[in-house]
Amino acid sequence: VENDQYAVIGNPIAHSKSPAIHGRFAAQSGQRMEYQRLLAPLDGFALCVSAFRAGGGKGVNVTVPFKLEAFALATRLTPRAQVAGAVNTLKFDDENILGDNTDGIGLVSDIVRNAGVSLENKRILLLGAGGAARGVLLPVLSERPSELVIANRTVSKAQQLVELATAHKQGEVLISACEWSQLSGKFDVIINATSASLSDEVPPISGDLFAAHTLAYDMMYGAQMTSFLRFAQSQGAVLRDGLGMLVEQAAEAFYLWRGVRPETAAVLADMRHALES
Ligand code: NDP
Repeated sequence: VENDQYAVIGNPIAHSKSPAIHGRFAAQSGQRMEYQRLLAPLDGFALCVSAFRAGGGKGVNVTVPFKLEAFALATRLTPRAQVAGAVNTLKFDDENILGDNTDGIGLVSDIVRNAGVSLENKRILLLGAGGAARGVLLPVLSERPSELVIANRTVSKAQQLVELATAHKQGEVLISACEWSQLSGKFDVIINATSASLSDEVPPISGDLFAAHTLAYDMMYGAQMTSFLRFAQSQGAVLRDGLGMLVEQAAEAFYLWRGVRPETAAVLADMRHALES
Protein backbone atom coordinates (compact mmCIF):
# COMPACT_ATOMS: atom_id res chain seq x y z
CA VAL A 1 0.00 0.00 0.00
CA GLU A 2 1.29 3.43 -0.86
CA ASN A 3 1.54 6.02 1.88
CA ASP A 4 -1.13 8.72 1.96
CA GLN A 5 0.04 12.01 0.51
CA TYR A 6 -0.21 15.44 2.12
CA ALA A 7 1.45 18.78 1.40
CA VAL A 8 1.74 22.39 2.38
CA ILE A 9 1.11 24.86 -0.45
CA GLY A 10 2.34 28.45 -0.44
CA ASN A 11 4.50 31.00 -2.20
CA PRO A 12 7.21 31.21 -0.96
CA ILE A 13 7.33 27.77 0.66
CA ALA A 14 11.00 26.78 1.05
CA HIS A 15 11.16 27.83 4.69
CA SER A 16 7.94 26.16 5.82
CA LYS A 17 8.38 24.12 8.98
CA SER A 18 5.20 22.12 8.35
CA PRO A 19 6.95 19.11 6.74
CA ALA A 20 9.21 18.77 9.81
CA ILE A 21 6.25 19.03 12.19
CA HIS A 22 3.99 16.59 10.34
CA GLY A 23 6.89 14.21 9.77
CA ARG A 24 7.39 14.05 13.54
CA PHE A 25 3.67 13.60 14.18
CA ALA A 26 3.52 10.74 11.67
CA ALA A 27 6.57 8.97 13.08
CA GLN A 28 5.32 9.31 16.64
CA SER A 29 1.83 7.99 15.89
CA GLY A 30 2.86 5.35 13.34
CA GLN A 31 0.75 6.92 10.59
CA ARG A 32 1.78 5.89 7.09
CA MET A 33 1.85 9.20 5.28
CA GLU A 34 4.12 11.52 3.35
CA TYR A 35 4.15 15.28 3.55
CA GLN A 36 5.81 17.58 1.05
CA ARG A 37 6.20 21.27 0.20
CA LEU A 38 4.46 22.56 -2.94
CA LEU A 39 5.34 25.91 -4.45
CA ALA A 40 2.28 27.17 -6.33
CA PRO A 41 2.62 30.00 -8.86
CA LEU A 42 0.85 33.12 -7.58
CA ASP A 43 -1.87 32.64 -10.21
CA GLY A 44 -1.91 28.84 -9.98
CA PHE A 45 -3.20 27.79 -6.56
CA ALA A 46 -6.37 25.97 -7.70
CA LEU A 47 -4.46 24.13 -10.43
CA CYS A 48 -1.77 23.07 -7.97
CA VAL A 49 -4.42 21.72 -5.59
CA SER A 50 -6.28 19.80 -8.29
CA ALA A 51 -3.07 18.27 -9.66
CA PHE A 52 -2.05 17.13 -6.19
CA ARG A 53 -5.50 15.72 -5.56
CA ALA A 54 -5.59 13.95 -8.93
CA GLY A 55 -2.29 12.31 -7.99
CA GLY A 56 -3.90 10.81 -4.90
CA GLY A 57 -3.34 13.64 -2.38
CA LYS A 58 -5.58 13.43 0.68
CA GLY A 59 -5.22 16.95 2.05
CA VAL A 60 -3.13 20.09 2.15
CA ASN A 61 -2.14 22.87 4.48
CA VAL A 62 -2.35 26.30 2.92
CA THR A 63 -0.18 29.25 3.79
CA VAL A 64 0.55 32.78 2.57
CA PRO A 65 -0.85 34.07 0.21
CA PHE A 66 -3.49 31.45 -0.59
CA LYS A 67 -5.72 31.20 2.49
CA LEU A 68 -8.54 33.21 0.86
CA GLU A 69 -8.36 31.16 -2.34
CA ALA A 70 -8.49 27.98 -0.29
CA PHE A 71 -11.61 29.34 1.39
CA ALA A 72 -13.18 29.89 -2.04
CA LEU A 73 -12.15 26.44 -3.26
CA ALA A 74 -13.69 24.52 -0.36
CA THR A 75 -17.09 22.95 -1.01
CA ARG A 76 -17.79 22.62 2.73
CA LEU A 77 -16.49 24.76 5.58
CA THR A 78 -16.20 24.24 9.31
CA PRO A 79 -17.83 27.00 11.42
CA ARG A 80 -14.45 28.29 12.52
CA ALA A 81 -13.28 28.55 8.91
CA GLN A 82 -16.53 30.32 8.01
CA VAL A 83 -15.98 32.98 10.69
CA ALA A 84 -12.26 33.23 9.92
CA GLY A 85 -13.06 33.86 6.25
CA ALA A 86 -9.90 31.95 5.42
CA VAL A 87 -8.78 28.32 5.21
CA ASN A 88 -5.41 26.84 6.21
CA THR A 89 -6.38 23.16 5.92
CA LEU A 90 -8.12 21.29 3.11
CA LYS A 91 -9.26 17.67 3.36
CA PHE A 92 -10.25 15.82 0.20
CA ASP A 93 -13.10 13.34 0.42
CA ASP A 94 -14.77 11.55 -2.48
CA GLU A 95 -16.54 14.60 -3.89
CA ASN A 96 -16.02 17.22 -1.24
CA ILE A 97 -13.23 19.56 -0.34
CA LEU A 98 -13.58 20.33 3.35
CA GLY A 99 -12.04 23.65 4.40
CA ASP A 100 -10.99 24.25 8.00
CA ASN A 101 -9.02 26.92 9.80
CA THR A 102 -6.91 25.59 12.64
CA ASP A 103 -4.84 28.73 13.33
CA GLY A 104 -7.15 30.12 16.00
CA ILE A 105 -7.66 26.86 17.85
CA GLY A 106 -3.88 26.41 17.63
CA LEU A 107 -3.35 29.71 19.41
CA VAL A 108 -5.92 28.89 22.08
CA SER A 109 -4.48 25.39 22.68
CA ASP A 110 -1.02 26.85 23.05
CA ILE A 111 -2.21 29.42 25.59
CA VAL A 112 -4.56 27.17 27.56
CA ARG A 113 -2.77 23.81 27.48
CA ASN A 114 0.89 24.59 26.89
CA ALA A 115 1.17 27.89 28.79
CA GLY A 116 -1.46 26.82 31.33
CA VAL A 117 -3.33 30.14 31.14
CA SER A 118 -7.14 29.94 31.18
CA LEU A 119 -8.98 32.59 29.15
CA GLU A 120 -12.21 32.19 31.09
CA ASN A 121 -13.38 35.45 32.67
CA LYS A 122 -10.21 37.17 31.49
CA ARG A 123 -9.71 40.59 29.96
CA ILE A 124 -8.14 40.05 26.54
CA LEU A 125 -6.57 42.59 24.20
CA LEU A 126 -6.19 41.61 20.55
CA LEU A 127 -3.77 43.78 18.57
CA GLY A 128 -4.38 43.71 14.81
CA ALA A 129 -7.37 43.10 12.57
CA GLY A 130 -5.88 41.19 9.64
CA GLY A 131 -6.38 37.54 8.71
CA ALA A 132 -4.64 36.17 11.80
CA ALA A 133 -6.72 38.30 14.18
CA ARG A 134 -9.95 37.35 12.46
CA GLY A 135 -9.03 33.68 12.62
CA VAL A 136 -8.74 33.67 16.41
CA LEU A 137 -12.10 35.33 17.17
CA LEU A 138 -14.31 32.25 17.42
CA PRO A 139 -11.81 30.03 19.30
CA VAL A 140 -11.04 32.84 21.78
CA LEU A 141 -14.72 33.64 22.39
CA SER A 142 -15.40 29.93 22.97
CA GLU A 143 -13.17 30.16 26.05
CA ARG A 144 -15.65 32.65 27.61
CA PRO A 145 -13.47 35.66 28.36
CA SER A 146 -15.12 38.54 30.24
CA GLU A 147 -13.90 41.15 27.78
CA LEU A 148 -12.34 41.27 24.32
CA VAL A 149 -10.88 44.57 23.14
CA ILE A 150 -9.60 44.82 19.55
CA ALA A 151 -7.13 47.56 18.62
CA ASN A 152 -5.73 48.13 15.16
CA ARG A 153 -3.82 50.81 13.25
CA THR A 154 -6.78 51.10 10.87
CA VAL A 155 -9.58 51.47 13.41
CA SER A 156 -12.39 50.73 10.93
CA LYS A 157 -10.99 47.22 10.47
CA ALA A 158 -11.07 46.64 14.22
CA GLN A 159 -14.70 47.78 14.20
CA GLN A 160 -15.52 45.25 11.50
CA LEU A 161 -14.02 42.47 13.61
CA VAL A 162 -16.04 43.66 16.60
CA GLU A 163 -19.24 43.32 14.55
CA LEU A 164 -18.23 39.84 13.46
CA ALA A 165 -17.28 38.82 17.01
CA THR A 166 -20.50 40.23 18.43
CA ALA A 167 -22.52 38.17 15.97
CA HIS A 168 -20.79 35.01 17.24
CA LYS A 169 -20.38 35.69 20.94
CA GLN A 170 -21.44 33.16 23.53
CA GLY A 171 -22.75 34.32 26.91
CA GLU A 172 -21.86 37.65 28.46
CA VAL A 173 -18.71 39.14 27.02
CA LEU A 174 -17.90 42.78 26.41
CA ILE A 175 -16.55 43.28 22.90
CA SER A 176 -15.21 46.63 21.72
CA ALA A 177 -12.81 48.34 19.34
CA CYS A 178 -10.39 50.89 20.71
CA GLU A 179 -7.73 53.27 19.44
CA TRP A 180 -4.19 52.61 20.65
CA SER A 181 -4.14 55.77 22.78
CA GLN A 182 -7.51 55.10 24.40
CA LEU A 183 -6.69 51.64 25.76
CA SER A 184 -6.80 51.52 29.55
CA GLY A 185 -6.71 49.21 32.55
CA LYS A 186 -4.67 46.04 32.93
CA PHE A 187 -5.21 43.10 30.56
CA ASP A 188 -4.74 39.44 31.51
CA VAL A 189 -3.70 38.47 27.99
CA ILE A 190 -2.39 40.69 25.17
CA ILE A 191 -2.15 38.97 21.79
CA ASN A 192 -0.09 40.59 19.05
CA ALA A 193 -1.71 39.55 15.76
CA THR A 194 -0.17 42.42 13.81
CA SER A 195 2.78 41.94 11.49
CA ALA A 196 4.57 44.93 13.10
CA SER A 197 7.31 42.67 14.49
CA LEU A 198 8.29 41.83 10.89
CA SER A 199 9.62 45.40 10.56
CA ASP A 200 10.85 45.44 14.16
CA GLU A 201 8.05 47.77 15.21
CA VAL A 202 5.70 47.61 18.18
CA PRO A 203 2.05 48.72 18.13
CA PRO A 204 2.07 52.01 20.09
CA ILE A 205 0.36 50.81 23.26
CA SER A 206 1.06 51.95 26.81
CA GLY A 207 3.19 49.83 29.10
CA ASP A 208 0.52 50.43 31.76
CA LEU A 209 -1.68 47.78 30.11
CA PHE A 210 0.67 45.03 31.35
CA ALA A 211 0.61 43.59 34.87
CA ALA A 212 3.12 41.07 36.21
CA HIS A 213 0.73 38.19 35.45
CA THR A 214 -0.15 39.45 31.94
CA LEU A 215 0.55 36.92 29.22
CA ALA A 216 2.07 38.75 26.24
CA TYR A 217 1.66 36.55 23.18
CA ASP A 218 3.25 37.32 19.82
CA MET A 219 2.00 35.21 16.90
CA MET A 220 5.37 35.78 15.27
CA TYR A 221 8.41 33.71 16.20
CA GLY A 222 12.04 33.60 15.24
CA ALA A 223 15.53 33.00 16.52
CA GLN A 224 15.46 36.44 18.16
CA MET A 225 12.83 37.71 20.55
CA THR A 226 10.32 39.93 18.69
CA SER A 227 10.15 43.67 19.30
CA PHE A 228 6.70 43.26 20.89
CA LEU A 229 7.99 40.63 23.34
CA ARG A 230 11.00 42.79 24.22
CA PHE A 231 8.61 45.63 25.04
CA ALA A 232 6.40 43.31 27.10
CA GLN A 233 9.49 42.00 28.89
CA SER A 234 10.44 45.55 29.85
CA GLN A 235 6.99 45.78 31.48
CA GLY A 236 7.58 42.59 33.45
CA ALA A 237 4.98 40.48 31.61
CA VAL A 238 4.95 36.71 30.96
CA LEU A 239 6.18 36.07 27.38
CA ARG A 240 5.25 33.58 24.68
CA ASP A 241 5.94 33.55 20.93
CA GLY A 242 3.96 31.93 18.11
CA LEU A 243 5.98 28.74 17.67
CA GLY A 244 3.55 26.81 19.87
CA MET A 245 0.65 28.13 17.80
CA LEU A 246 2.37 26.83 14.67
CA VAL A 247 2.79 23.35 16.15
CA GLU A 248 -0.75 23.27 17.59
CA GLN A 249 -2.43 24.38 14.33
CA ALA A 250 -0.54 21.55 12.63
CA ALA A 251 -1.75 19.08 15.29
CA GLU A 252 -5.36 20.11 14.63
CA ALA A 253 -4.89 19.62 10.89
CA PHE A 254 -3.30 16.22 11.52
CA TYR A 255 -6.28 15.27 13.68
CA LEU A 256 -8.73 16.37 10.98
CA TRP A 257 -6.94 14.24 8.38
CA ARG A 258 -5.99 11.18 10.40
CA GLY A 259 -8.37 11.11 13.37
CA VAL A 260 -5.36 10.82 15.69
CA ARG A 261 -4.26 13.51 18.13
CA PRO A 262 -0.47 13.87 18.10
CA GLU A 263 1.57 14.65 21.21
CA THR A 264 2.86 18.17 20.70
CA ALA A 265 5.20 18.82 23.64
CA ALA A 266 8.25 16.94 22.33
CA VAL A 267 7.70 18.28 18.80
CA LEU A 268 7.52 21.86 20.09
CA ALA A 269 10.74 21.30 22.05
CA ASP A 270 12.44 19.94 18.90
CA MET A 271 11.25 22.88 16.82
CA ARG A 272 12.47 25.32 19.47
CA HIS A 273 15.84 23.66 19.51
CA ALA A 274 16.09 23.77 15.69
CA LEU A 275 15.08 27.45 15.66
CA GLU A 276 17.73 28.41 18.17
CA SER A 277 20.63 26.36 16.86
P1 NDP B 1 -2.35 40.71 7.60
O1 NDP B 1 -1.50 41.34 6.56
O2 NDP B 1 -3.67 40.15 7.26
O3 NDP B 1 -2.60 41.79 8.77
C1 NDP B 1 -1.55 42.57 9.28
C2 NDP B 1 -2.03 43.30 10.52
O4 NDP B 1 -0.90 43.94 11.11
C3 NDP B 1 -3.04 44.40 10.24
O5 NDP B 1 -3.91 44.50 11.35
C4 NDP B 1 -2.15 45.64 10.14
O6 NDP B 1 -2.83 46.86 10.44
C5 NDP B 1 -1.14 45.34 11.20
N1 NDP B 1 0.16 46.02 11.03
C6 NDP B 1 1.06 45.83 10.05
N2 NDP B 1 2.16 46.59 10.25
C7 NDP B 1 1.95 47.28 11.40
C8 NDP B 1 2.70 48.23 12.14
N3 NDP B 1 3.92 48.63 11.73
N4 NDP B 1 2.17 48.72 13.29
C9 NDP B 1 0.95 48.32 13.71
N5 NDP B 1 0.18 47.44 13.05
C10 NDP B 1 0.67 46.92 11.90
O7 NDP B 1 -1.41 39.62 8.29
P2 NDP B 1 -1.88 38.32 9.09
O8 NDP B 1 -3.02 38.70 9.95
O9 NDP B 1 -2.05 37.20 8.14
O10 NDP B 1 -0.59 37.96 9.97
C11 NDP B 1 -0.21 38.72 11.12
C12 NDP B 1 0.97 38.05 11.82
O11 NDP B 1 0.59 36.81 12.40
C13 NDP B 1 2.12 37.73 10.88
O12 NDP B 1 3.29 38.24 11.47
C14 NDP B 1 2.18 36.23 10.79
O13 NDP B 1 3.50 35.77 10.67
C15 NDP B 1 1.56 35.81 12.12
N6 NDP B 1 0.92 34.46 12.05
C16 NDP B 1 1.44 33.45 12.82
C17 NDP B 1 0.87 32.18 12.80
C18 NDP B 1 1.47 31.09 13.64
O14 NDP B 1 1.12 29.92 13.43
N7 NDP B 1 2.29 31.38 14.61
C19 NDP B 1 -0.30 31.88 11.93
C20 NDP B 1 -0.78 33.04 11.18
C21 NDP B 1 -0.17 34.27 11.24
P3 NDP B 1 -3.71 47.64 9.30
O15 NDP B 1 -5.04 46.96 9.27
O16 NDP B 1 -3.79 49.03 9.81
O17 NDP B 1 -2.93 47.51 8.01
